[in-house]
Amino acid sequence: MSVKLATITKPGSHRAMNRVKYAPSQLQAISRMALIVQKYGGTSVGSVERIGAVADRVARFKSEGHDVVVVVSAMSGETNRLLALAKEIQANPAPRELDALLSTGEKVTTALLSMALHERDVRARSYSGNQVGILTDSAHNKARIQDIKLDTLKSELDAGGVPVVAGFQGVDVQGNVTTLGRGGSDTTAVALAAALKADECQIYTDVDGVYTTDPRMVDGARRLDHITFEEMLEMSSMGSKVLQIRSVEFAGKYKVPLRVLSSFEEGPGTLISTEEDTSMEAPVIAGIAFNRDEAKLTVIGVPDNPGMAYRILGPVGEANIEVDVILQNSRGENETDFTFTVARSDMDKAAQLLTPVVAELGAGEVLTDDHIAKVSVVGVGMRSHSGVAATMFKALADVGVNIQMISTSEIKISVIIEEKYLELAVRSLHSAFGLDTVETTA
Ligand code: ADP
Ligand code: ASP
Ligand code: MG
Repeated sequence: MSVKLATITKPGSHRAMNRVKYAPSQLQAISRMALIVQKYGGTSVGSVERIGAVADRVARFKSEGHDVVVVVSAMSGETNRLLALAKEIQANPAPRELDALLSTGEKVTTALLSMALHERDVRARSYSGNQVGILTDSAHNKARIQDIKLDTLKSELDAGGVPVVAGFQGVDVQGNVTTLGRGGSDTTAVALAAALKADECQIYTDVDGVYTTDPRMVDGARRLDHITFEEMLEMSSMGSKVLQIRSVEFAGKYKVPLRVLSSFEEGPGTLISTEEDTSMEAPVIAGIAFNRDEAKLTVIGVPDNPGMAYRILGPVGEANIEVDVILQNSRGENETDFTFTVARSDMDKAAQLLTPVVAELGAGEVLTDDHIAKVSVVGVGMRSHSGVAATMFKALADVGVNIQMISTSEIKISVIIEEKYLELAVRSLHSAFGLDTVETTA
């Protein structure tokens, strides 16, 4: 049996009637047998002791009568360690070989966790992405899952066992090992949950849920009981790395109930679902995301004629460089400045590409700046509330942060600012939108 993820036509129809509904504070009190996919991130499997704690939790779910499929990441730091080894040998290793190397990290944890489960008398078997038929395209280092063959997983579940699957990896049609991009184990878990029509996909990590902003930056950040797929997608794409963007896309598309929880303490975590809080007290802003990975390029003195944006961004796009925020402003005298942002790692390449273009256009020069950051406020409540932009800009003005660029969507406003003000900006926005915990505002 195989499930083409791109061709499931009626997402959400599966098991919709008997999907597990937890009261937020009763996560473990599942009263009937459910199929749960649990994913454990790097820190959660970072040592033999922690792997033991994961095995204890899996054993408990099994003893309560649930079917569990486990997806694991590499032990914390392992993927970076392997990457650094490769870079010691070659600055730009062949993407295929990099995947062959990076995929080993997850294999280690599948075997160790299976052993820990055996030690607790739980039947378990480790599997690589290839062994459970996670088929991807051939885009090494950023492959996309296309199809999942469920036979192996299903027969292991039918035999009462716990499949322990290596996250972050798959195989292409030629049999090459591929990886899904950093943080990709989240996507493996959600894709398996979608294909298996699991009742819930649980992402166990080192924080106890999704917060109003990264709790490592703002002490007063608050855990959200619930966030919509739409908001989570914006939070992830605007820089909140708690879930890989693609995993949220999958969960939204196939209506997989997704929960982020701590692997270190019990608690309800955060449920990500389609349900919107429509009550009067519903917050307008769900959270604040930020990203330090962008850089800005400005072409100055561009003739103010049709086709200029295309002449500038055409070669950038052809080189597969993604452009994020764009700003064009006329300076009068038939000239404009054209500014856009790209990933920081693409800045030099983009600037090089633009050198001949600037000469052809008779423009001034290309300025680059990699000391910028992007801060975004995200919330579905923006649709029905005006004044969000004004609140945001006032909060930044009050602490003297200059806004360089602005971009908006229906449920998000992003600003580009100088990187050194990032923390100040995030903290002041967090307060301005009333997101701080009572303790810190009191
Ligand atoms: P894992 O190794 O378990 O996949 P990650 O490091 O990928 O864990 O993701 C968890 C981290 O995401 C947290 O430690 C936290 O610093 C960060 N993070 C960023 N934004 C948020 C947010 N809004 N809510 C919770 N965590 C966040
Ligand atoms: N181990 C991979 C990484 O560090 C995948 C993951 O942890 O999700 O990015
Ligand atoms: Mg992660």
